[in-house]
Order: sequence, then structure tokens, then C-alpha cells
Amino acid sequence: MNIAVVGTGYVGLVSGTCFAESGNEVVCVDINRERIEMLNSGRVPIYEPGLEELVRRNVKEGRLSFTTELGPAVGNAMVSFLAVGTPMGPDGAADLSQVFRVAEQVTKAAVGYHVIAVKSTVPVGTNDSVREIVAQYGNGRTDVCSVPEFLKEGSAVEDFMRPDRVVIGSTSEQATAILREIHAAFVRTDNPILVMHPRSAELTKYASNAMLALRISFINQMANLCEAVGAEINDVRRGMGSDKRIGPQFLFPGVGYGGSCFPKDVQALIHSAADRKLDFSILRAADEVNNEQKRIMVHRAKEHFNGNLKGKNFAVWGLAFKPRTDDMREAPSLVVIEELLAAGAKVQVHDPEALEGARKIFGDRVAYHATNYEALKGADALMILTEWNQFRHPNFQRIKAELKEPVIFDGRNLYDPSLMKALEFKYYSIGRRPVL
Ligand code: NAD
Repeated sequence: MNIAVVGTGYVGLVSGTCFAESGNEVVCVDINRERIEMLNSGRVPIYEPGLEELVRRNVKEGRLSFTTELGPAVGNAMVSFLAVGTPMGPDGAADLSQVFRVAEQVTKAAVGYHVIAVKSTVPVGTNDSVREIVAQYGNGRTDVCSVPEFLKEGSAVEDFMRPDRVVIGSTSEQATAILREIHAAFVRTDNPILVMHPRSAELTKYASNAMLALRISFINQMANLCEAVGAEINDVRRGMGSDKRIGPQFLFPGVGYGGSCFPKDVQALIHSAADRKLDFSILRAADEVNNEQKRIMVHRAKEHFNGNLKGKNFAVWGLAFKPRTDDMREAPSLVVIEELLAAGAKVQVHDPEALEGARKIFGDRVAYHATNYEALKGADALMILTEWNQFRHPNFQRIKAELKEPVIFDGRNLYDPSLMKALEFKYYSIGRRPVL
């Protein structure tokens, strides 16, 4: 099938590449000229495990191409997936301008029967608005559907190739049949394709992200309680997570959730509810807890250094909002580093993939290091903000030798407190029982 994917970011590039990998002919469109030139010269602008190889193969075999020209790409396609951004607007509501602009362009460019499949995360009712645009500018032969995306950065290719479920929001039998066919290749293990009303599909995406955000804020607050009462969060987490009704996933305490989805989707859902005079208070609480949790290691550092961080030098390991991605959008590291700098501290950072992105944000306000050990040189303390695998078993003697004082603020609970004590580190983590 001929497919156009409009928006070639994390979602669009992965979706387009995976559609090509399953045999479709796919053209990915983006207004970002630099991004398209990069892709056309064989380079992938984002870090996502497995993606580069897949892009190269599908380009080579002629099923995948990249362009800034939306018209021909859509004109040749039967289906256009919209994967443009839906960032948080100033009031917390989702900014849908990219979706509406592209919907109009696609409608005008479509030839014959066409399906517009909205993959971007959009508030309830957006599909109706897109349908109005289609009615205004279209040829009467374009259907609009909602196909929300559930992939996770860091395992996006794997998630797209083997989704737990595919959700199709559609009121058109013809469009449903086409979208089922496109997605059948990814659910050969009998994971469900759930067809529902577009409004339910739109809300399913927000409900999923909101639930995950709630779990994270819940476990973070539980971890803080563990510390206060002398319990161990890892034991509590395992004890809870073994209950099949609860499950073990998304119960790891840390320095708060970030990324391009959870914070903005939680805000958008609060906003959608408020528009209907509903106070989604549980989500407001999750958001508040998260904002506070991002600062927890800065509070610990202030306590440790007697309230004064001026002139202290922090080595920060991990900048991306989670491992296996270069994405720093809404990352806890942004808040932590700004707070350290505001308190007069110096910061020297390492991240396996996010240094380039960090440079665009912090400029020369922090020092960048290509390896985690280099970042330690002359630092007063180490602070860990992202749980990259390579940080899990470091050479502790080397850490000790490089730091002025053996102090670790571990925002991801990577190490065993008893081992840290045996190695004579002053070790701060989250929700752990003190080692006596
Ligand atoms: P992104 O910012 O990485 O990519 C969006 C792309 O759209 C950019 O490359 C931008 O240049 C392009 N674009 C904007 N306007 C355009 C236009 N008029 N024509 C063509 N291209 C245009 O965003 P993303 O992370 O891929 O997210 C896209 C959507 O998917 C959002 O709604 C997001 O909430 C949702 N989503 C994201 C993830 C994720 O993990 N990143 C997961 C599921 C869903």
C-alpha cells in the first residue's frame, strides 16, 4: 500500500520505517528541511535503538523515502498518517495548530479515496474538528480516523513492531478495513486490534499515559514515606507488584517522570476535563508530586552541604529523560541542573546520547564530558539522573579517586546501599532503608 507519514519525528520516523519494513511504500514528509536532508543522506536525526539499520535497509530497497513536498507524497498515497507535534500550549491545553494545518494540506492534496489517520496524541473531539476541515476543503472521499500511538522512546521500533494492542477509532467500514490490513503485520501474535469510536480512541491514549503517570507519582510518594518510616521501597514495590492485579511495571521510584508525553498529556487531560467543568484532581496531584520529586536530589544535596551549594562542583550522569534515548524534553535533569546553577554550584555532565541536545539548552553554562569518568574529575559529588545501563556497574574505586568527597546522590536507585556503605561512600537514594 502507498502510505504518507506527515511529521518525521520520533513517532513519524519510526512508524513510517516500520510500515515500509512490512512491505508498504512509504514517503515520510516533514517541514524541517535539515531533518529531511539528513535522512536523504543516510543519517538518522534521532537516537533510537535499531532504527538506523531499518531506515537504511528500507531506503536501499526502495520502500522508504523522505521529502519536504507534502503534495505529491499524499497524492500518491491511499492513507496519510499525521504524526506532527501536539505540544503543550501556554495554558496547559494541547496546541493543535500543526495537526489542523497538516489536515488541511493533506485534504487538499488527496486524490481519490483517502484515509487521514491521526497518530498524534490529540484531545477528545479533535477528530471531529479534522472532519470539519475535510468537509470544507475535501473532495467528499476522505475518511478521518484516530490511530493513537503507544510506542515508548528507547524501545520504539520493538514497540511498534509488536504492540500490546492497536487502537483504531473509526466510523467508516472502508477506512477500518484498510487500517486493519496495514496493522495486521504487527499483531501476528494475536494481540488485539481494538476498533472503537474516534472519541474513545483519543481518550484511550490519554487514559493510558495518565495511569502510568499516576503510578509513578504514587510510587515516588510511597518511597518518600518509606524513608520517613524506615521501610525499604524495593521490598514494598516487589510485594505490591507481585499482586497480579497490580503488576510490577512502572513502580520504580526516581526523580520524577519527564519526556515529551507524560507531562504534556497529563496537563492536556486536566484541561479537557476542566473544559467540561470536571476537576481531574487526582491528575493535578500526580503533576504536583512529580514537580516536587524532580527537586528531591537538590534538597538532599543542600542538606548534605549544610544548605550552601555555592562553588560546589557536581558531576551529573544522565541527562535524557530516560535511558536509550537522546530526548531531553521535560527531563528531570533540566530542573535539577537549573536549580544547582541557581544555587551557585558548577555542573559537569555526561550522557551517552544527549550531550548534543544538552549543549543547545545549557550552552557554556555547564561542562560536557564524553565519558562518565571524565565528568567526575574534581567534582565534590556525583549525581545520577538517568538509569543508563552503563552506570549500573561502574568502577567505584575510580569514582572515589576522582571525587573530592565520596558522595553519590542516586536519583535512580542504581546501587546497593550496603555495598555503598562498605565502600565508604556517603550514598543518598530514594526510599531506601538505612543501612545500620
Ligand atoms: P516530534 O516533535 O519528534 O516530531 C514532530 C515532527 O513534525 C517534527 O519533525 C516537525 O518538524 C514535524 N512537523 C511539524 N509541522 C509540520 C508540518 N506542517 N508538515 C510536516 N511536518 C511537520 O514529535 P513526536 O515525539 O514524534 O510526537 C508526535 C506526536 O506523537 C505527538 O502528538 C506526541 O504526543 C505523540 N506521541 C509521541 C510519543 C513519543 O514517545 N515521542 C509516543 C506516542 C505518541
